[in-house]
Amino acid sequence: MKYLLMYNPVSGRSKFKKKIKQIKRFFDKRNLEIDIYESKKAGDLELKAQHHAKDYDVFLVAGGDGTISEVVNGMMKSEIRPSLAILPCGTANDIAAILGVPRWLWLALRMYMKHEPVLMDINQMNDRYFVYTAASGVLSRISYDVSRRKIKKYGYLAYVFEAMRDFVKEYNYPCHIECDGKVLETDCMMILGLSSNRVGGMRLINFSKSKLNDGLFEIRVFTSRRRFRRFRLASSFIRGGKKLREDFHLVGKHFKIETDDNILWNADGEAAEKGNIEIRTIEKALSVYVSPRRKRKQF
Ligand SMILES: [Mg+2]
Repeated sequence: MKYLLMYNPVSGRSKFKKKIKQIKRFFDKRNLEIDIYESKKAGDLELKAQHHAKDYDVFLVAGGDGTISEVVNGMMKSEIRPSLAILPCGTANDIAAILGVPRWLWLALRMYMKHEPVLMDINQMNDRYFVYTAASGVLSRISYDVSRRKIKKYGYLAYVFEAMRDFVKEYNYPCHIECDGKVLETDCMMILGLSSNRVGGMRLINFSKSKLNDGLFEIRVFTSRRRFRRFRLASSFIRGGKKLREDFHLVGKHFKIETDDNILWNADGEAAEKGNIEIRTIEKALSVYVSPRRKRKQF
């Protein structure tokens, strides 16, 4: 087995660099080959992942959702793909949480030694790949609008402050959605697509009973038709993403969404496309390491 450890030295607040020596020792002790790659600038990890996908059995990626998303985009552009193992150490670690990866580095590494990876779906928004979320409207910009400086200072709270500020803004835009032959047309304040039941550090247990390997993606359209709509949206989140009567929930393989040109889309926490988009799910595209518990529940 040949491993490549990839990390972004400016990811989140973590001091990952200090742990590299210990990780190297962990692998040496088990006679496993490991190379180490540190990114210098945005886009480095994607290129490295794409061009070296065929040279390794496992990509060990240390970072948060942004780092993982970058690596996945690179891997998906290669025909041959190694398995993905995550060492969570960003500010936002939704993907690691979805896969049940322990926060404690040594527990995560031990999990990777003991269990086999499984195949997971990967989604596509126009030409870009994403793992677990696509969103527009209220709250969808905070994951990338908060400055690094504020994250360093306040950590997760920086996102909470920004969410409160965004929440009072007016969001109301039209959408026309085609999903596997069905059509929906409405005005909305938020469109939230998830492949699992977690976003922004929240567990939305009533969002859906989705699986990570069923080739399907799920989209909730939060309409803007009723009074007190912000209050109603908040109440839905508080109740674990429970669907409200006026909202729509779509499940499918392929979504075509038409909306205003200035509508911004978030993919895995990063600013992605503007205006009309298509979302596709590529069934069982990537082999990933997951905890046995999440494997039972989500696969
Ligand atoms: Mg699914």
